[in-house]
Formats: sequence, structure tokens, C-alpha cells
Amino acid sequence: MWTAPQAEAEAILQLPEAEFMAELERRYGPQMGRLKRLTPPALFPVQLMQCDRYVLPRLALVGDAAHSCHPVGGQGLNMGIRDAAALAEVLTAAYQHGENLGSLPVLRRYERWRRWENWIILSFTDVLTRTFSNQIGPIVVLRRLGLWSLNRVPLLRHLALRLMTGRLGRVPQVARVGQQV
Ligand SMILES: Cc1cc2nc3c(=O)[nH]c(=O)nc-3n(C[C@H](O)[C@H](O)[C@H](O)COP(=O)(O)OP(=O)(O)OC[C@H]3O[C@@H](n4cnc5c(N)ncnc54)[C@H](O)[C@@H]3O)c2cc1C
Repeated sequence: MWTAPQAEAEAILQLPEAEFMAELERRYGPQMGRLKRLTPPALFPVQLMQCDRYVLPRLALVGDAAHSCHPVGGQGLNMGIRDAAALAEVLTAAYQHGENLGSLPVLRRYERWRRWENWIILSFTDVLTRTFSNQIGPIVVLRRLGLWSLNRVPLLRHLALRLMTGRLGRVPQVARVGQQV
């Protein structure tokens, strides 16, 4: 994975293979050893994406297969881990009640739990990305107001912290171990 602004990424994609690999090795450093290109490089945006459905009979999407966002908030992996924990919890409960684990009603419980909560974090991260990568006057004012409010209003700061650490909404049982707040 190599992230760069759009114009730079497009230029990188046009590099001849030898130059591309030399630049990649220069940026990664020697710890990866000699890198070998197996397929041509592909370009895709790091932005908010979410599947309309997380589940079908005998199928459940978790992590980046279900959603992705800009890495600025450092949330992708965290959301994926909470998806996995939630799915495990739903399936465990279904098993204990003798239900069919691959059935849509069972898997929909996981979707209902996670899709809405992920959507809130994805939207929050998306707003952060858009406002902080923008120099349009009113947006800069809004950004400053937002930061000022976070600084001055403890409740807002508390809510933002809980949201970004996955403690807002329904927390999977395994994530509650050792939880302080
Ligand atoms: C630059 C950057 C920085 C980030 N920083 C953070 C951060 O600070 N904190 C955070 O929480 N998140 C961060 N993220 C997001 C995080 O990396 C992802 O959300 C997370 O790795 C998703 O995990 P995953 O297991 O769902 O998917 P992936 O990590 O994409 O794993 C999927 C795996 O499946 C394999 N695969 C794909 N297709 C097939 C196939 N057909 N057969 C077999 N295997 C296959 C892939 O090779 C890959 O190994 C960042 C992302 C980027 C791009």
C-alpha cells in the first residue's frame, strides 16, 4: 500500500517498472528485502465506502470488505476488529439457542448492530478529512469552531473520544474486558 495525493499517485502509476520498483524500495527502506512486482500497480481512492448489505445467507462481510474510510482517523482496523467481535458474539448466542448460524435472520442481527455504528464513524472521519484538506474560508471557520468546541466543551470531547475508541453504542462483550469508562 502506497498512499499519495491524487496527482502524484497518477504520476507514480506512469513510471516504468524499474523506476517504480526503485522508488518503492527507496520509500519502504531495506527492511522488506528485495521487492518483486507480480502484477501492474493499481490506483484506488482512500475514501468513505460502505456496502449496502453486510450479509447474505451464509455470508457476512467484516472489516474493509464491508467498509473503508480515509486513514486520517486511524479507524479502519478498529472497526474491523469490532465487526469480528460482534459477529462472533451474534453467532455464539445463535448457537446457544440452536439456530441456523448461516441463516439471514441470524446474520442480519450482526448487520443491524454494526452497519449503523460504522456509518457514524465513517461519516465523522469523512467530515474530518474534507474539512482539514480544505482552505475555503467558511470551512476554515467551521473547522476552527469545531476544534474550539472540542477544546472548551468537555461533553463534546468525551463523546468524540468515546466514538473514536469504539465505546459509543453497543460494545462487543470481548471489548468490554478491562473497560474503565
Ligand atoms: C495508509 C493507511 C493507514 C492506516 N492507518 C490505520 C490506523 O492507524 N488505524 C486503523 O485502525 N486503521 C488504519 N488503516 C486501515 C486498516 O489498515 C484497514 O482498515 C485494515 O487493514 C483492514 O483489515 P482487513 O483485514 O479488513 O482487510 P485487509 O487488511 O485488506 O486484509 C485483507 C487480506 O485479504 C487478502 N486477500 C484479498 N483478496 C484475496 C483473495 N481472493 N484470496 C485470498 N486473500 C485475499 C489481502 O491480500 C489481504 O491480506 C490504515 C489504512 C491505510 C491505507
